[in-house]
Amino acid sequence: TNFDGFGLCAPLLQAVQEEGYATPTPIQAGAIGPLLQGRDLIGLAQTGTGKTAAFTLPLLHRLAEKRRAPPRLGARVLILAPTRELASQIGDSVNRYGRHLGLSATVVFGGVGQGRQVEALRRGVDVLVAAPGRLLDLCGQRLCDLSGVEALVLDEADRMLDMGFLRDIRRVIALLPPERQTALFSATLSPSIATLAHSLLRDPARVEV
Ligand code: AMP
Repeated sequence: TNFDGFGLCAPLLQAVQEEGYATPTPIQAGAIGPLLQGRDLIGLAQTGTGKTAAFTLPLLHRLAEKRRAPPRLGARVLILAPTRELASQIGDSVNRYGRHLGLSATVVFGGVGQGRQVEALRRGVDVLVAAPGRLLDLCGQRLCDLSGVEALVLDEADRMLDMGFLRDIRRVIALLPPERQTALFSATLSPSIATLAHSLLRDPARVEV
């Protein structure tokens, strides 16, 4: 099996080829199909398994398939990550996988001035990668509006809970439209992850690698 069978658009397949990926990893093989169909998903996978491409490729495909102007101050796809390092890495991956699509992406996290992040968000972006604290901060200042989000990804959800972000995650989710696609990735399925997944996901596909 290779990447051709999923029905991903040519600009994404080209980017995948340029990355030198010949074969989907197991998490990609299991997650890309359901996410392309618009299904919710729980992915149990560690870092290094290729999970970033597993959610980025299908979500970028869906954005490109139904192009529209992103919502002002907001985003069409929101990816939450526990740390600025991980958020930056995901942002880089989104830019690489999406480089032939002409979609916009930006990353917001704390510990740096908010000016450039606010500027990048002003017209809205297709993909917003965010650490929860700074995201809520910007929303509280009305510099970010999540009411137009079509798809949410929680990456490394177990780490976010370990770091005490459960309440922040819940606050972010309360700002999103209930009608949306949601994917949750975690290395482990602890009881607290199971509870979060149960409250967040609708009839999710489950992929474990
Ligand atoms: P991730 O788990 O998303 O952080 O990805 C880990 C590493 O695997 C990254 O360096 C990716 O570039 C690489 N990678 C992702 N998918 C594939 C693939 N299908 N074939 C080879 N390498 C890949």
